[in-house]
Amino acid sequence: MKAPLRNNSARLLLGPGPSPVHPRVLAALSEPVLGHLDPEFCDIMSETTQLLRYVFATENALTVPLSGTGSAGMDASLTNLLEPGDKAVVLSCGVFGERLCDIVPRLGAELVKVDSKWGTPVDPADVKRAIAQAGRPKVVAAVHAETSTGVLQPLEEITKYAHEAGALMVVDAVTSLGGTEVPTDRLSLDFVYSGTQKCLSCPPGLAPVTLSEAAQQAIARRKSAVSSWYLDLSMIQRYWTGERFYHHTAPVNMVYALHEALSLIREETLEHCWARHARNARAFSEGVTAMGLELLVAPEYRLPSLVVIKVPQGIDDAQVRQKLLSDYNIEIGGGLGELKGKIWRVGLMGHGSKQSNIVLLLAALEHILKNLGMDVPEGAGTSAASRAFSN
Ligand SMILES: *Cc1c(COP(=O)(O)O)cnc(C)c1O
Repeated sequence: MKAPLRNNSARLLLGPGPSPVHPRVLAALSEPVLGHLDPEFCDIMSETTQLLRYVFATENALTVPLSGTGSAGMDASLTNLLEPGDKAVVLSCGVFGERLCDIVPRLGAELVKVDSKWGTPVDPADVKRAIAQAGRPKVVAAVHAETSTGVLQPLEEITKYAHEAGALMVVDAVTSLGGTEVPTDRLSLDFVYSGTQKCLSCPPGLAPVTLSEAAQQAIARRKSAVSSWYLDLSMIQRYWTGERFYHHTAPVNMVYALHEALSLIREETLEHCWARHARNARAFSEGVTAMGLELLVAPEYRLPSLVVIKVPQGIDDAQVRQKLLSDYNIEIGGGLGELKGKIWRVGLMGHGSKQSNIVLLLAALEHILKNLGMDVPEGAGTSAASRAFSN
């Protein structure tokens, strides 16, 4: 029998996800399987929802991990809140905003899309206009951290406009949860979903979600049944909170993993975890800039979990990524859609966001770019990063 992993030295995952998994989380995955209704597992479930409330910064009663990756959280948000004929205003400035747009008409709902140039956030004034144009939208949906471009979408103003219009605010926090503040209760966001594989140091497989009282009431008031049986939150809720009613078998070991990953954040504290992501992204950004490379996003909208670099003139994007993989065992991401071949996406997420990874990647990039004929000042990247770390 051949082990599934051919190269037994694990890759350093510095792409847009999945990200490095903490050894304690890997150990939790290999614990014996319990029955999904076992009293001991029920205790683990309760603690997991408690830890999720801490990480989401919320008191929301309905805060649970859905079985599925981040996209299951996305699907669940719109599928549970929208009914045929409802209107949804969706912000889009990248692949994940486009994915939200793709879901709306599948539910028989009407899409009002607000977009902006990839690499910039959506302008709140445009959102205000779109809400007015839509009349009474049921939902306004936005991607907080757009992983295809590295943009952080400010949420204050758009959430205010959504609530003034009586709409529910849906937020994709897949690449922001754990990496930067997700203001669930501070802004009274109504449906926030995330994924385990980005800033939570956990493998792909669960989609944590949290719902406000208003979002829960909207689901309770539905005239039609939720079109997805599997993602119907009114049934999932009965398993996770309350009577432990059997709906589907929970991915038991992924719940252990999430419990451990969230415990790690609790031990570090959420605020220190955000500060670490911010410090490391800044140091890496200063390093790449000192090497003569440019970043795609303006400083005020940069993500602390993902740094997006423009591929310099005359350099082949794929060749650099291939060299990083073959010579250094490091994965970084390329561009998607209209940014294909034009950017590199460097994820500094969760357990991957640390000083040693940054110094290694800067040194590796310098070596590779020099060999490809680019004029890179000797040691400039690592020196700039060290200066940033000692500040
Ligand atoms: C990764 C990602 C998703 C989808 O998550 P999967 O785990 O790939 O299903 C959704 N939204 C954003 C912003 C993401 O970065």
